[in-house]
Amino acid sequence: MSDKDISGKTKICALIGDPVEHTMSPVMHNAAYKKLGLDYIYIPFRVKPEQLAPAVDGLRALNVCGFNVTIPHKVSIIPVLDGLDPIAEKIGAVNTVVNTGGELRGYNTDADGFLKAMLERGVEPGGKSVVVLGAGGAARAITYILAEKVVSLTILNRQEELDWAENIAELIKEDFGKVVRVLELRDDYLAEVLHNADILVNATSVGMSPAGDKSPVPADLLRKGLVVFDVVYNPINTRLLNEAKAAGAQTISGIDMLAWQGALAFEKWTGQAAPIDLMKKEAVKMLESHED
Ligand code: NAP
Repeated sequence: MSDKDISGKTKICALIGDPVEHTMSPVMHNAAYKKLGLDYIYIPFRVKPEQLAPAVDGLRALNVCGFNVTIPHKVSIIPVLDGLDPIAEKIGAVNTVVNTGGELRGYNTDADGFLKAMLERGVEPGGKSVVVLGAGGAARAITYILAEKVVSLTILNRQEELDWAENIAELIKEDFGKVVRVLELRDDYLAEVLHNADILVNATSVGMSPAGDKSPVPADLLRKGLVVFDVVYNPINTRLLNEAKAAGAQTISGIDMLAWQGALAFEKWTGQAAPIDLMKKEAVKMLESHED
């Protein structure tokens, strides 16, 4: 949508975070509105942590359709919302809010976005052995959404924050009666668990630009028959994915999850099927233009 198309009928969606300078959500959503001829616009707002509550009240007062939530507000937004989707409540983090007549309800589309990205690549997690690296926000969403389906789940995290991983494991035991193995993220443990794993998910920020030369997994542990999903999307082809590909593993990039989490938010706000290929293309275009 160009400026001249904005009218009193235009519906507004937003993003709140700090920082928001490098977000790819506006290009994905605005391209999708344009393609479907929807009278919507998506605008990012930088909101400092101490301004979160007044900013959310403002968005409600301004009658926005909905908004995305990113770092550092994904957890702290919960008390200022009017309700939560059960999965977002379990995960304890919100990345999408829908405004229905002034009532703000929080969702977590990272979790379903991850699953959609996997299924789209022909990877069905049912009955598989999965290893997840990390215990931060993304890892929590991913492990929770996988827990019900997979046959075995192991979480590896840095030693200093193993409590986080234990905490996710307890939640999964309570909700699904499944025992999750929790280990320190060390090469010897990685070697042991990857030997029998079907799927490896990197849900740490290791390998993210500007530290794109790093990988959380030694290359010699990657092999044919393993699916390697890296949630890091910048760069699109991380060192882990490049080394996994070279070893003959199937790879899935975090850019797929990014596009899907956006597409699922789009569907909640507009009620229409999202043009996922276009949203992904726009995100890739923006990332590649930054790499130049
Ligand atoms: P977060 O909550 O800050 O969690 C970061 C995780 O990375 C923690 O488990 C942390 O371990 C681990 N970590 C950081 N540096 C490490 C290191 N040097 N060695 C080992 N572990 C390390 O962040 P998040 O929101 O989960 O995001 C994690 C990554 O996922 C980011 O790159 C983010 O861009 C990406 N992400 C992608 C999507 C998508 O749609 N593709 C969506 C959400 C997030 P500790 O617990 O020990 O600190």
